[in-house]
Amino acid sequence: MKLVFLGPPGAGKGTVAEKAETDLAVPHVSTGEIFRAAVKNGTPLGKRVKAVMESGALVPDELTIELVKERLGGQDAKAGWILDGFPRTVPQADALVAFDPPDKVVNFELGDEAIVERLSGRRTCPACSRSFHVKFMPPAKEGVCDSCGGSLITREDDKVEAIQRRLAAYRAQTAPLIEYFRAKGRLVTVDASPEAETVYAAFLGLPGLKKG
Ligand code: AMP
Repeated sequence: MKLVFLGPPGAGKGTVAEKAETDLAVPHVSTGEIFRAAVKNGTPLGKRVKAVMESGALVPDELTIELVKERLGGQDAKAGWILDGFPRTVPQADALVAFDPPDKVVNFELGDEAIVERLSGRRTCPACSRSFHVKFMPPAKEGVCDSCGGSLITREDDKVEAIQRRLAAYRAQTAPLIEYFRAKGRLVTVDASPEAETVYAAFLGLPGLKKG
């Protein structure tokens, strides 16, 4: 099953994808995670994308498309995948449709106020990448990762100015993909406003989802 997760930042795509990876037995491919790992490890890719990511703007298409092509060429991604955070522009969508078209595009819908509340309250573990939320998904001990004991931080791009830039990039460059995939008959929609478990149940209830 080849799935694209579309939706604004903060809609919970990553949270759904983390669980679905196990339930549907396909790898979760998050371009944001790949870029963040590259920045953390100080690789040449990381050095190229650090400033643009922290500002909340998008990494250039060519670079992102090449990266995804290479990742989807991996042995574990032959049968299927969940793409979270890609495509984010029309050129990225055109490239994906040409080299490995998705079976379904799941659009996670969320209003602007909820987006800002979710992103500004998000806390991330820099050691293992797990995300929490001060109000909706607090860790057992404040400021400490439940999984690995790391100290939780606010990502640079979850700070208020960067959130505004990410939202602007979403509206201008990514939101048009909703109509793009609807026109191709691939779009299904999930209401991302309830709590995480309800959103996940709605996702699993989509018609035609299957393992592998
Ligand atoms: P995310 O975790 O998906 O919100 O991504 C974090 C940041 O990584 C974004 O704000 C962009 O700077 C960059 N990024 C992730 N995916 C893409 C993409 N498909 N195209 C361009 N930039 C991306």
